[in-house]
Amino acid sequence: MRLSKTFIKTLREAPKDEIAKNGALLSRAGYIHKELAGVYDYLPLGLLVLEKIKTVIREELNAIGCEEVSMSALQNPELWEATGRFSDQEVDIWFKTELSSGGLLGLAPTHEEPMVNMMKTYIHSYKDLPAYAYQFQTKFRNEKRAKSGIMRGREFLMKDLYSFHTSEEDLDEFYAKVEKAYAKIFERLGLGDSTYETFASGGIFSKFSHEYQTILPVGEDVIYYNKDKSLVFNKEVFNKEVLDEFGAHESEFEPTKAAEVGNIFKLKHKYSEPLGLKYTDESNTAKTVYMGCYGIGVSRVMGVIAEKFADEKGLVWPEAVAPFKYYLVGIGEKGSLKASEIYAGRESEILFDDRDLRPGEKFADSELMGIPYRIVISDKTLESNSAEVVERKTGEKKLVDIKKLFV
Ligand code: ATP
Ligand code: MG
Repeated sequence: MRLSKTFIKTLREAPKDEIAKNGALLSRAGYIHKELAGVYDYLPLGLLVLEKIKTVIREELNAIGCEEVSMSALQNPELWEATGRFSDQEVDIWFKTELSSGGLLGLAPTHEEPMVNMMKTYIHSYKDLPAYAYQFQTKFRNEKRAKSGIMRGREFLMKDLYSFHTSEEDLDEFYAKVEKAYAKIFERLGLGDSTYETFASGGIFSKFSHEYQTILPVGEDVIYYNKDKSLVFNKEVFNKEVLDEFGAHESEFEPTKAAEVGNIFKLKHKYSEPLGLKYTDESNTAKTVYMGCYGIGVSRVMGVIAEKFADEKGLVWPEAVAPFKYYLVGIGEKGSLKASEIYAGRESEILFDDRDLRPGEKFADSELMGIPYRIVISDKTLESNSAEVVERKTGEKKLVDIKKLFV
């Protein structure tokens, strides 16, 4: 991408009402634009980051046999009435909209009910199971507080996976595969060191669910971990009864703030029962399908990464999610010419700052935008046929032979 050709600009000021660091930096660096509290637009750079996060998730889910779909955001209230969840007492975060012909439609806060209903068309016999369907889809939630930038949106991107099984054992087996896939996903996203699978409340159908919590000072959750972090609990299940069950004692644990980046749940019959999702077994007996659901907050993950790695100069993206790997600056006539040559054919890797600006302004923007490596080519570096490469994360500088820049 050539910066001279894009409409995006870095901004001196974040929106006045933006109090979260991630929201402020992403706005200033030209990744997002704020519409309303908790409602954001994604600009070309922001979209590239979201796509990179999606690619990591997609690859790991496809590797365990999941299939991608895309379900509608407008939802049929009848399905939610069947599970008792259309009422604002049950789900207090609904956005609802009116049909011109009368009656209400829901705007997707999540997709269990429509997903189960859709599967009723395709699941009839044990031969149709297991099935695993996921999507990257916009959810709408009337969140009371939306002060955490893109970490808590009223409209946000979620990955939601739903699994369908003949038995609890089969559900358990797949659940364990998802746990492994999630570990790989957060590792690849640069959050492996700081993200923990934690025990969280499971409602009435399972004793526990699991949350994936990334340690973050501005996180909205509190988790408790033991010394080697092998046992981590969400605050809501951190009590004597639960600790006794694990043979643990309160004094071994420390609290810390964290952001929930994912959540996995053994639903068992919670939605398949009221919505009548059944299959016939080998002896032709009708049985209720077992289910699991597995979420990742894709846009929240982007906010958490932005928030977590930023420094006083701006964003610092891990390579796997950076919109571009290199930020290229040419200084002087020969330097600029060489930079153009290098850019050709590497458009998807390089953000080329070919604007008519002073080098200092370009350097400041490269730091604000958080691109992992800045390559500077000047008449001076060309004397030794090299370029200066600066790593964003460490600030480490070195001269690299131009021929060896991308090897
Ligand atoms: P929270 O406790 O943070 O409200 P939740 O339990 O409501 O989360 P789920 O319904 O399990 O969340 O949604 C799956 C994932 O979607 C969460 O783990 C989180 O990463 C993300 N998520 C939930 N609500 C939001 C939101 N308002 N904005 C951005 N991401 C969200
Ligand atoms: Mg919530």
